[in-house]
Amino acid sequence: MARRKKIYEGKAKILYEGPEPGTIVQYFKDDATAFNAQKKDVIEGKGVLNNRLSEFFMTGLNTIGVPTHFIKRLNMREQLVRACEIVPLEVIVRNIAAGSMAKRLGLEEGMPLPRPIVEYCYKDDKLGDPLVTEEHIAAFGWASQQDMDDILSLSLRVNDYLSGLMYGVGIKLVDFKIEIGRVYDGDYQRLILADEISPDSMRLWDMETGQKLDKDVFRRDLGSLTDAYTEVAQRLGVMPKQATHAVKPKLIN
Ligand code: 5GP
Repeated sequence: MARRKKIYEGKAKILYEGPEPGTIVQYFKDDATAFNAQKKDVIEGKGVLNNRLSEFFMTGLNTIGVPTHFIKRLNMREQLVRACEIVPLEVIVRNIAAGSMAKRLGLEEGMPLPRPIVEYCYKDDKLGDPLVTEEHIAAFGWASQQDMDDILSLSLRVNDYLSGLMYGVGIKLVDFKIEIGRVYDGDYQRLILADEISPDSMRLWDMETGQKLDKDVFRRDLGSLTDAYTEVAQRLGVMPKQATHAVKPKLIN
């Protein structure tokens, strides 16, 4: 049997050539990294959870008309996606002050923002994904003005969709990062949502207790990352809840 071709290995995923031209198999690893890979660990089960969660979010977004690269989940750790040219930007949408923005602007973490704020970072691990402005993006030709308009409206639609979904299960969507891909249909090109959507790239806080249910659990050593992601998956109905009234075996004398 021919070995499939690895196209790229990132911090949390491996991309392989797909079975048809224009497709890619995206494999979710258990590796967790933070602070630009200065902190690293292998968290058993994380890849399986992120594969399922990303499938769930991407399928929902496809259903409401947000174009994504997602085609179908193949197995526990892999999904088939449409090949695309990644726009070299990380698009961050924020609803509540936290993380690097709270630090940068001296804001109290947890402060609701007056409206969703969209930020752009240049995708370059060596540089630590620096924040850039639309001036940089236009001047260096990373995306056109039309692309930026499309990226903004796509990001805000994703934000509305995810915020509502999370609100329904008692979770605040604080912020998240997405990546955008470019696909060509004949002479035309359009932008689609690419990469993954999972608790690895979001901040999720329980509405009642404020408990963190995202990668900050790993970044800040707050407990079990898989317990947090499992909680999110169970609340969303992506994974079954464990029976709380399981009958204990009786000792027979
Ligand atoms: P911050 O800029 O506050 O560190 O991150 C903002 C949001 O984007 C957080 O939800 C964070 O998880 C996500 N994010 C920022 N950079 C990255 C990245 O390089 N990888 C992933 N997976 N998420 C990121």
